[in-house]
Amino acid sequence: MEELVYKKQNSYEKAPDKTAAAFEFAKDYMQFLDSSKTEREAVDTAIEAAVKAGFTPYTLGDKVAAGDKRYLNNRGKSLILFRVGSESLDLGARITAAHIDSPRIDLKQQPLYEADGMAFFKTHYYGGLRKYQWTATPLALHGVVIRADGESIRISIGEDAGDPVFYINDLLPHLAAAQSKEPLATAIKGEDLNILCGSAPLAEAGDDPIKRNVLKLLNEKYGITESDFVSAELSVVPATGARDIGFDRALIGSYGHDDRVCAYPALRAILDTDDTTHTQICVLADKEEIGSMGVSGMQSAVFSDLVDELCLALGANPRVCRAASVCLSADVTAAYDPNFASVYEKRNSAIVGCGVAMSKFTGSRGKSGSSDASAELVGRIRRMLDGAGVVWQTAELGKVDEGGGGTVAMFIANRNIDTLDIGVPVISMHAPFEVVSKVDVYSAYEAFKTFTK
Ligand code: MN
Ligand code: MN
Repeated sequence: MEELVYKKQNSYEKAPDKTAAAFEFAKDYMQFLDSSKTEREAVDTAIEAAVKAGFTPYTLGDKVAAGDKRYLNNRGKSLILFRVGSESLDLGARITAAHIDSPRIDLKQQPLYEADGMAFFKTHYYGGLRKYQWTATPLALHGVVIRADGESIRISIGEDAGDPVFYINDLLPHLAAAQSKEPLATAIKGEDLNILCGSAPLAEAGDDPIKRNVLKLLNEKYGITESDFVSAELSVVPATGARDIGFDRALIGSYGHDDRVCAYPALRAILDTDDTTHTQICVLADKEEIGSMGVSGMQSAVFSDLVDELCLALGANPRVCRAASVCLSADVTAAYDPNFASVYEKRNSAIVGCGVAMSKFTGSRGKSGSSDASAELVGRIRRMLDGAGVVWQTAELGKVDEGGGGTVAMFIANRNIDTLDIGVPVISMHAPFEVVSKVDVYSAYEAFKTFTK
């Protein structure tokens, strides 16, 4: 009877021996989170780890040979790491694909203005965020400015204890009677997300003395002028770092778990594996939160170009290689939350602590926008995970017709590569401070590492 019935079990019951390793792994992951608040920073952190593991840079067109460990840095915004196996690429590659961009608030190209004793930046939010969550909380400024002279200036303000932070004003409850009656979606509007960035005027500056003071300080520190914002990518993200949550320290609270909580285990899996037979590829993509478009998104031809180039260099057929390849689309799913039980279908939801969650399909309104993996592929991955003793579960993102979401899976599957979604369940996904379970992060690492073999 025990074997007849499927029973979801949490990692603590099913594999208590893994808990200590999971808590250790979480320490490394939390360091990665704090040093990787944007896709550019995640690329830098990942390259640093890859170089330590013996990976070397690769450019399209380079020669490659079995045993090579290389990385393709795509414009500093996305990264593809690969290990060339001894087996022919006609037998396919093992691919993991996660994304390293997260919802945030970007500065506009003419951002700085002054109004009534304060200076602000105008913004346009990036990805699906609940705007009210981003007010009245400390924010850090990250990004890059390409100056008129072509010089690239990196900016990161608000992360060190002595740094100033930035802020989005909200209304005091005393005057919020009308605002409090508005729906959550419209109480704070897109154009209300203005970043407070100064309030001291520059003496004898004429018009807009506070704005001019901000510009003077920026010029002193970075050599930039107001026109340089035109060629900048500046974002505000929560200034808080990753922290343990709860008396038992079993959860991690942080900005950006979606999708660094899958990107980091996927990265570590390809760095740590001792498999030399299979060719492995790990994609850390940008732009997932806004549709995976553009040169650094998963829809970019760079991924297919790399597979083509590897096959060309190693005497394999890229079409045959893709048809024989398998991909784990490593992205987060929603964790079942008893506080908001009505939007979930509990039997098919991911439960915190029950391991990495496999989603045969994603999408919304009748699976629309999902690549819906085949039963054969799910069967193959399921056998692999069970064979290696990985704690895993299945997931569906909420009730039918309640909403939904997508991942990069379809963009890989469209290239004739068998692809299955699997990732870590997240509480309060897309919030400035999201929550995951340490044992779930570790089970993702175990799943990706098993997959490389
Ligand atoms: Mn995601
Ligand atoms: Mn997301």
